[in-house]
Amino acid sequence: MRILITGGAGFLGSHLTDRFLAEGHEVIVLDNLITGSLDNVIHNYGNPHFQFIKHDVTTYIHVPWDLDAVLHFASPASPKDFPAIPIPILKVNSLGTHNALGLALAKRARFLLASTSEVYGDPLVHPQPETYWGNVNPIGIRGVYDEAKRFAEALTMAYRRAHGLDTRIVRIFNTYGPRMRLDDGRVIPNFVSQALRGEPLTVYGDGSQTRSFCYVDDEIEGFVRLLMSDEPGPVNIGNTRETSMLELAELVNRLTGNDAGITFLPLPKDDPKVRRPDITKARESLGWEPTIDLEEGLTRTIAWFRERLRV
Ligand code: UDP
Repeated sequence: MRILITGGAGFLGSHLTDRFLAEGHEVIVLDNLITGSLDNVIHNYGNPHFQFIKHDVTTYIHVPWDLDAVLHFASPASPKDFPAIPIPILKVNSLGTHNALGLALAKRARFLLASTSEVYGDPLVHPQPETYWGNVNPIGIRGVYDEAKRFAEALTMAYRRAHGLDTRIVRIFNTYGPRMRLDDGRVIPNFVSQALRGEPLTVYGDGSQTRSFCYVDDEIEGFVRLLMSDEPGPVNIGNTRETSMLELAELVNRLTGNDAGITFLPLPKDDPKVRRPDITKARESLGWEPTIDLEEGLTRTIAWFRERLRV
């Protein structure tokens, strides 16, 4: 297959790129490098099946080649980005999704949208099945991401219904692993960097809020199965082990041998109190479930961060 990945120099996009190249597919990466990095794809330079094009997908996308699939993974995704670059986030998920869908339609290619558990907002149903419509504050600081992704899902379904485009939607829950930005601001890069520097870990609020963390290799396997299946989605892909931020901080301190402890900082506004995917649909329609537990995934992630931080 010839596969175009928007955001292919980002955390998830670059892991997907490597996976497809390893399976013998051709990959074209489009990325404006706003949060992605060439460091994530530079090892593929010289591979005749790989191309990188620096492009902002909020403007018209043209490529001369036939395509079999368009995967729309371009978007900043860290809560730290939401107040810093709110308009690019809204644009890449609205105008960018429109352009990526238009490209898929022109090429009669399959389209996969990277959506998010953020469509569920601060959920009133727990765990979250795909049938839950969510609890999102449209004008809050997270609204720029949550509402843009909700719009992207609506636009994807409109192309499916109006144009008969072959579409997939994946709702991605918290994912972690190598190639997250060191200064990403999300909890695992923060805790691991702090622990490796021997600093106290910054827990926001009282640390009782929960998330469910999926190691990147498991997550990528879910994306590939969805793309290759007939399931249009949306499908939740994430790990079902739920942990509080306090438990996570204690675990990272234990795995790194950090004895600097924990410091408590104010909870950001609209921070979801709980999050855990119901993955019944992924299990039944894709035969997928995560295989790498949190201790193992964190150990691999810590090793990667240790090399980058040179500590
Ligand atoms: N968090 C924290 N300390 C940090 C960064 C984040 O306690 O240094 C908390 C944050 O308040 C949230 C959870 O960790 O409750 C996950 O935050 P993250 O930014 O990773 O992503 P989110 O799941 O909120 O989109």
